[in-house]
Amino acid sequence: MTAQVQEGLQELLALWRSLGLGPVEKNIVLALLLGLAFFVVVLVVERATRTRGTEYRSKDFLFDGVYWVWYRSGLNYLWFIALIFPSLEYPIPWLDQQLLRPYPIAVQALLFFLVSDFYVYWAHRAMHRFAPLWAIHTAHHAPERLTFASSARFHPIEIALFYIGSYLLVRLSGSDPLAWMPVLVFMEIMLQAQHTNIPWRLGPFYRILVTPTFHRFHHSRDPAHFDHNFGGVLSLWDHLFGTALPQRGPWPTALGVEGVRHDTLWSTLAHPLRLALRRRGRHAAAAAPGVVVERT
Ligand SMILES: [Zn+2]
Ligand SMILES: [Zn+2]
Repeated sequence: MTAQVQEGLQELLALWRSLGLGPVEKNIVLALLLGLAFFVVVLVVERATRTRGTEYRSKDFLFDGVYWVWYRSGLNYLWFIALIFPSLEYPIPWLDQQLLRPYPIAVQALLFFLVSDFYVYWAHRAMHRFAPLWAIHTAHHAPERLTFASSARFHPIEIALFYIGSYLLVRLSGSDPLAWMPVLVFMEIMLQAQHTNIPWRLGPFYRILVTPTFHRFHHSRDPAHFDHNFGGVLSLWDHLFGTALPQRGPWPTALGVEGVRHDTLWSTLAHPLRLALRRRGRHAAAAAPGVVVERT
C-alpha cells in the first residue's frame, strides 16, 4: 500500500515537472490547488454542521475568489518582494534592533506571533477609526455573504499598509525567517477559517481565539455591533481593551455595509478610493460603517 502511494506521488511529481511551468504559473496553480483543498474541507464541515447556504452562488464569492487567487498565488507579492526584501541586505542601524534574535526559534516564533497579532488588532482599529482608512477598509466589509475567500478581499492600499507594518516588525525583531514565516502562514489560515460559515465557538477558547462566530459579528450591519471584535487571531486583545461584544449568538445574518454594494470587480477597487477622496462627511463615515450611503 505504502509503495503504491509512493509510486502515485512520484507520478504526480513527474506530471507536475512535465508541465514546465514558470514560477508565476506554479504559484497560481498551487494557490488554486490549495484553495480547492481548503474549500473541500470547509464544504464538508459546513455540510456536517448544516450551515451551508447560498454563499457560493453569489457574486461576492466570485470577487472574493479573484482576490484570493491574486493574493495567495503570490502575484501580489512579486512587487513587494522585488522592492522590499532585497533591502534586508542593507543594514539600517536604527531599525535593525535584533530584539528577538537571542532567543531560540520557538520562542522567537511565539513572541513574533504575539507582537504581530497585537499590531493587527490596533491596525484594524485604526482602519475603523479614521475616515480615509475606513473608506479603504469598506472593500473588506462590503460582501453581504462570507466565505473563506472573503479573507482575501482587501484593497491593495490596505495590504500595502499591512506589509509596511509587517516589514518593520520583521526588521525590528531581527527574527529568523524560520520563526516568522510559519507564523504569517498560520495567521493566514486562521483568517480564512474565521470567514467560513462554520458556527464554531470553541467553548472557553472563545475568550482567547477569534472564531468564525466572533468575527461574523464584526461584519454585521447592525449598528449595535459596529466597531467591535477587531482581533486578528486572538480575541484576547478585544477582551483586554473592551472592544469584545458580549454576544455569542445567534449569528448575525445581515452582513455588509449599508448602502455599499460592489456590483463589479472594478468597483471593489474604485469605490473605496472614491470614498477616501470625498471631502464631505468623511469623518461620519468613519465613525459608523452604516452611514456610507453611496451605491456603485
Ligand atoms: Zn473591519
Ligand atoms: Zn473579515
